[in-house]
This record gives sequence, C-alpha cells and structure tokens, in this order.
Amino acid sequence: MFGKYSFRGGVHPSHNKDQTASRNIETFPAPERAIIPLSQHIGTPAKIAVKRGDTVKTGQVIGEAGGFVSAPVHASISGKVVSVGPFPHPLGRRVTSVEIENDGTNETVEFNPSDKPWREAAPQEIVQKISAAGIVGMGGASFPTHVKLSPPSNKPIDTVIINGAECEPYLTADHRFMLEKTEQILLGALIIKKVVGAAKLFIGIEENKPDAIEKITEQLNKEIFKEIIPAKLQTKYPQGGEKQLIAAITRRQVPSGGLPMDCGCIVQNVGTACAIWEAVSEGKPLYQRVVTVTGPAIRKPGNFLVRIGTPIKTLVEKCEIDYDAAQKVIMGGPMMGLAQSDLDAPIIKSSSGILAHSTLTAGTRDYDCISCGNCVKACPINLVPSFISKFVQKGLYEDAMAWNVLDCIECGSCAYACPAKINLVHYMKLGKFHAMAIRKSQEQK
Ligand code: SF4
Ligand code: SF4
Repeated sequence: MFGKYSFRGGVHPSHNKDQTASRNIETFPAPERAIIPLSQHIGTPAKIAVKRGDTVKTGQVIGEAGGFVSAPVHASISGKVVSVGPFPHPLGRRVTSVEIENDGTNETVEFNPSDKPWREAAPQEIVQKISAAGIVGMGGASFPTHVKLSPPSNKPIDTVIINGAECEPYLTADHRFMLEKTEQILLGALIIKKVVGAAKLFIGIEENKPDAIEKITEQLNKEIFKEIIPAKLQTKYPQGGEKQLIAAITRRQVPSGGLPMDCGCIVQNVGTACAIWEAVSEGKPLYQRVVTVTGPAIRKPGNFLVRIGTPIKTLVEKCEIDYDAAQKVIMGGPMMGLAQSDLDAPIIKSSSGILAHSTLTAGTRDYDCISCGNCVKACPINLVPSFISKFVQKGLYEDAMAWNVLDCIECGSCAYACPAKINLVHYMKLGKFHAMAIRKSQEQK
C-alpha cells in the first residue's frame, strides 16, 4: 500500500533510536516551577497578560499573540506567578518569561471547543481555534500554524503532507506519537486538508518505523481516512526537511528563496496535526508536548509528555543523567540540535528531544579540502559547500550569495560527509549571516 519515496543527496548517520523506540509515552510529573517564555515561535513575541502575584490555572492565556505572525502562550501548571523577567531560553539567549510556582491542584481552565463539528465549520473558524490554542510547528521550526494555514490567495495549496519522517538520530517522540495517537493525527490531517482546500493529503513515514507504518495502514482502511495517501520514505537524513519531503513525495522543488506554498504544498508535523485535532475538537491549548530524553549519558531514557516550561534540568535529572559522563546536552537531535549552556532553560513548544552526549563532537580542526566532492553529493539542496565555505573564509560574501548560501537549511549533511572534518556548517551559517546583512542594506538603498 505504501509507495517508497526519496530525495537527492543526504547521509546515513546511525539511527540510535533503539534506546527509546519501544518505550511508551509516559506522563512526566508537572514541575514545581515552570518557566514559560513569551517567545517560543518565529515572529513577534507574545504580549504579557499576567503580572507578579496573579493566580493562574492550567491552560490560561499568560501571553497574548503580539501580531499576526505570533502565537499566544498558556500556563502549563496552576499556581502563582512569582516573577516575570528574563530567563534562560533553549535557543541560547535570555527571553522574557513567566515563572509560575505550582500549587499542586492542576486546576484547569474550561476548554472551549468548536460549537459545531469540524466538517461543518468554516475554514476561518477552524484557523481561529488553532490560533487561540497557540499551536506552532512542533517539528522544530515553530512557525505559527495559523499563519501557515492562511496562504495568500495567489498561492493555492493543492497538497498537504503530514511529516512522520523523524529522520534525526536518537529522537523517537514522533514515532511513539504515531503509534499511540494514530487516529488523532489522521483527524488533524483531514482538518488541515479542509482548511487549505487541498486535493491531496499524504502522510510520509521513514521505513525504519515499520510498526508505525502498520498502525497507520490499519487506520487508512477506515472509510473516513480513505483519502489519505501513505508514503513510505527511504531512511535517509534529512528526509524530514520540508523541501526534501516535498521533493520525495511530489517531485516538486521549492524555488530558491521560496516556501512550500510556492509549489502548492504545506507540510505539518505529526505532533502538530494531533495538537490541531485537540484544539478543534476539545478547545485544548498547547501547553504540553512529547519529548524524547536519551543519549549515552542518560541512564533511564524515554519518551515523556512534558509540560511546557519544565526546566531541562528537572527532566534530565529524573531520567538519571550521569553528570560526570555528560559532555554535552543538546535540545533536538545530534545533526541540527542546539547545545545547551544552561540547564535551567525550559522545554518549549518545539523541543522534540533532549540528548545527553558522553563525548564532545570530534575536533573541528580544518584539514585541507581534498576536492573529493562528498559534500556536494550529500547536500540535499544541490549547493556546493566546498566552494561556498572557501568564499566565506575569504570574506567574499557576495560570491557566497551568488552560490545560493541563503538556501542552506543547516542540516549538517555536508560536514558529516567531509573526510577533512571541515566545519562546513559553521561557514554556511556565517555566510548566511553576512548575506542577510548585505540583502538588508541593498533593500534599504
Ligand atoms: S548544511 Fe547547508 S550546505 Fe551543508 S548539506 Fe545541509 S543544506 Fe547543504
Ligand atoms: S567533502 Fe570536504 S574535503 Fe571533500 S570536497 Fe567537500 S569540503 Fe572538500
């Protein structure tokens, strides 16, 4: 039933998913103290809606959307607001956040579901529910979902792809989600298709998750899900990247500098699809998510349903992190995740995993390029990382722009494939930084 799809380029890092792939999602205890950042999404931060001393309930709005490209944030526990101020953030800077002390009651706001079945609701009503629930892309991109579901009228969407690839090594949160929330994900997918008026709806899953493929296939036999097209994806990194998924399944290319909607597509992660279903059917806001906690320095790895705002430290200590062995703690996977310098930073809406490594990344000493071409073969965007990195090293940023440095998705495939251990991603990031500055100054002229 499932066809098999792939894309050009990519690499094959070890999966390292066995530690957690068969572990059911466990509910993680609500923290004694939650730190909830007002910025957990791409776009304008939320505007503070509470003050020190206020009492809040679980699910209550504590930050209102700061504009169209923004999202509200909600209390993930009940209790007292003890402070509002800058706190560590997993993206590496201090961000205005709301600190809530848990009162232990978990008193929850009354949810406000749609007053009619989703099939009868107008797309705009559904989008409003999704917006009010504070849903953002949960696969890591954290783009506000209501914005993604509101493309301009000159960009019609004919294809929706639900992303169950989970190609990052170690992470299994989406895998478990597909096994344990199968029906909710598929119902969320149908809602997305309705909202954007697409003709086709795919769900893509990497072939290294045969149990998830089987479970989804069972559901797709039901009449209600007949319109969903299954797509078995070759296990290859970065298969879960939006552009790679679109290329694999539809053979369309997102144009340079463009977005999926420029080729008629929308991609949503399986976790986001489930959150959409919960927002529309129950009126439930996004205040918790599934996180994989794993890595060689974690003694008790697992997949956990975690309240947003739970400090990373609380999570890894409960999973018995070996601090002596842990050399590096990463939010996300080893390929694209971000090393954490402060474990007081909280879990946010886009935290798919916490990985505690017992070894540091291999030395980043740059040996000379041997012109082997591995990086070019590995790049899923068809870039030439060897050339671009040389331009960047020489400060020739306009040349790097001419070679499309801004299209780099920072996937790390080139660096992974490079036998000379050249820190190519660093040069790509640096090149993008300078290219953005050049573009901005050109626009201001
Ligand atoms: S990090 Fe950028 S240049 Fe390197 S493989 Fe990925 S997209 Fe290509
Ligand atoms: S993979 Fe490394 S050594 Fe080979 S061409 Fe690219 S940069 Fe040079």
